[in-house]
Amino acid sequence: MDAADVQDDLVNVLFTEEQIHARLKELAAQIEADYEGQDLLIVGVLRGAVMVMADLARSFGRHLEMDWMAVTSYGSGTKSSGVVRILKDLDTDISGRHVVIVDEIIDTGLTLSWLTSNLASRSPASVEICTLLRKPEALTMPVDVKYVGWDIPNEFVVGYGLDYRERYRNLRDIGTLAPHVYS
Ligand code: 5GP
Ligand code: MG
Ligand code: MG
Repeated sequence: MDAADVQDDLVNVLFTEEQIHARLKELAAQIEADYEGQDLLIVGVLRGAVMVMADLARSFGRHLEMDWMAVTSYGSGTKSSGVVRILKDLDTDISGRHVVIVDEIIDTGLTLSWLTSNLASRSPASVEICTLLRKPEALTMPVDVKYVGWDIPNEFVVGYGLDYRERYRNLRDIGTLAPHVYS
């Protein structure tokens, strides 16, 4: 399977690399304004948020720190298992610090609602969420998201960090997969 085949598996491109970069620049500007003069730690949620973190962080013209957490709420398929586990915790003590959690997508909200209260229990100065995508129709948990790239329909998307069975994360665009991929 070569690179062209991988691109061919995307049946519908929702957001191109250029659109994603432009939107992340806007979100970075918004965050920069909100945290002016304050210390800032952004926390990427592995593995999906790697691309978002890389491009968002480089859109900032200010100092910030980056740390990572790995959590899982999904099995290998396309449905949430409903159980959140920490696979890798922060290396940073966040007490007294301003934290922005960076994720690539909010689906049911389970992961980020759990993660937000987990981080909030560590006495940070503040915790906010930045996500590139959100599926409002899929939300089952209340999550207060301050920074959202786009709201999207309740469809399974891949690319730009988003996987299907650990593949397609390396696609530059975000889109939906052709039906033949699932069969
Ligand atoms: P939630 O806990 O909000 O239901 O799901 C959060 C996680 O599920 C995301 O960080 C992502 O890893 C995965 N996820 C949710 N929706 C999608 C989707 O449409 N495509 C992919 N590839 N992953 C998704
Ligand atoms: Mg994620
Ligand atoms: Mg996944």
